[in-house]
Amino acid sequence: MKVLVINCGSSSLKYQVLDMTNETLLAKGLVERIGMAGSVLKHEKTNVEEKFIQETPMKDHKDAIANVMNAITDSIYGVVKSMDEIGAVGHRVVHAGEKYATSVVIDNKVIAALEECVELAPLHNPPNLLGIAACQELMPGTPEVAVFDTAFHQTMPPESYIYAIPYEYYTKYGIRRYGFHGTSHKYVAERAADMLGVNIADLKLITCHLGNGASVSAIKRGKCIDTSMGFTPLAGLAMGTRAGSIDPAIISFIADKEDLTADEVLGILNKKSGMLGISGISSDFRDIADAIADGNVRAELALKVFAHRVRYYIGAYIAEMNGVDAIVFTAGVGENDVDTRDVICSELGNLGIKLDLVKNKVRGKETVISRDDSKVAILLIPTNEELVIARDTYELTK
Ligand code: AMP
Repeated sequence: MKVLVINCGSSSLKYQVLDMTNETLLAKGLVERIGMAGSVLKHEKTNVEEKFIQETPMKDHKDAIANVMNAITDSIYGVVKSMDEIGAVGHRVVHAGEKYATSVVIDNKVIAALEECVELAPLHNPPNLLGIAACQELMPGTPEVAVFDTAFHQTMPPESYIYAIPYEYYTKYGIRRYGFHGTSHKYVAERAADMLGVNIADLKLITCHLGNGASVSAIKRGKCIDTSMGFTPLAGLAMGTRAGSIDPAIISFIADKEDLTADEVLGILNKKSGMLGISGISSDFRDIADAIADGNVRAELALKVFAHRVRYYIGAYIAEMNGVDAIVFTAGVGENDVDTRDVICSELGNLGIKLDLVKNKVRGKETVISRDDSKVAILLIPTNEELVIARDTYELTK
């Protein structure tokens, strides 16, 4: 069975087509600038070097998906003869609140539940829902599955997810820690168990998803027991442009000093903070590295703050789980940034965490990067959220 995986953002859409008989990627692509001038689709067929690029107006997500369907059925770049060969569509959906702890086949009840979650994820759930509606219209009869970023974290115990604010804000408004990147944390945790040859039920893992958005999770016996993101993805680590956790009193203080509304301050904490805010240069760790090489002190400080926060969570989660067997690095920075991994892992030797500086000189490859005498394994595992979405979609619809 072939599965189409769709990840809709507000003006972009990523997709993959996978053959689930052998879990191979047949094609992938990206649509950008949906609803704006200059809409473009870039499509890549596996093992074909030349990309198929189509610049054509796409006023909404339905137009975008119609163009994706044309690309994947194209006589040269396509991977199916007709859309009938697509057995199911898997959608990445950001927020399911407390409604779903696993992936689900989409029906009207699920759509209504996700609409109720829009207020929890006003930027993310609406485009996810648009993608679902467009597929229903353009591929009627093809089952659709929703795979949620929040689902894997639903196993957290209340002491991890309840904020120390009046309890009725939780019962009335659902204010609690939800956590995000769940699909990625789940994937790398399962791969870690496979790599170590140990049943996941016998492992304590700390998974570090370090990309432009970044989060750390504590995974005990295969279940998430804590994670650094919170009610929204703004909490936890310092990120590319997000501040991560700060003293909440800072918000009204900045609003007052800079004559801004609380929403405007939140905009700054989401888009102008993190690596970009501290360095004043860029949110991209490659630019930060270049600036450090040129002697830029604020870029160096940004990296130190980032590493400090990751170490902080590693320490906290070791305490919460009473130990750790392996630490996993994944996502853009975690998979590729040799120096950042090095800075994070330095001075953790007394906790039994010893990075092998030679083995660490690697990018984007599934491998062990700890020293042979390290009590705790350090693993580099490229994430594959689309594969998890395709697997869940296949399992629920085959
Ligand atoms: P993601 O959000 O997982 O796609 O990660 C994107 C981020 O990964 C980029 O903003 C970069 O900061 C970082 N990144 C990607 N490639 C590299 C690399 N080769 N070295 C350092 N950082 C990288």
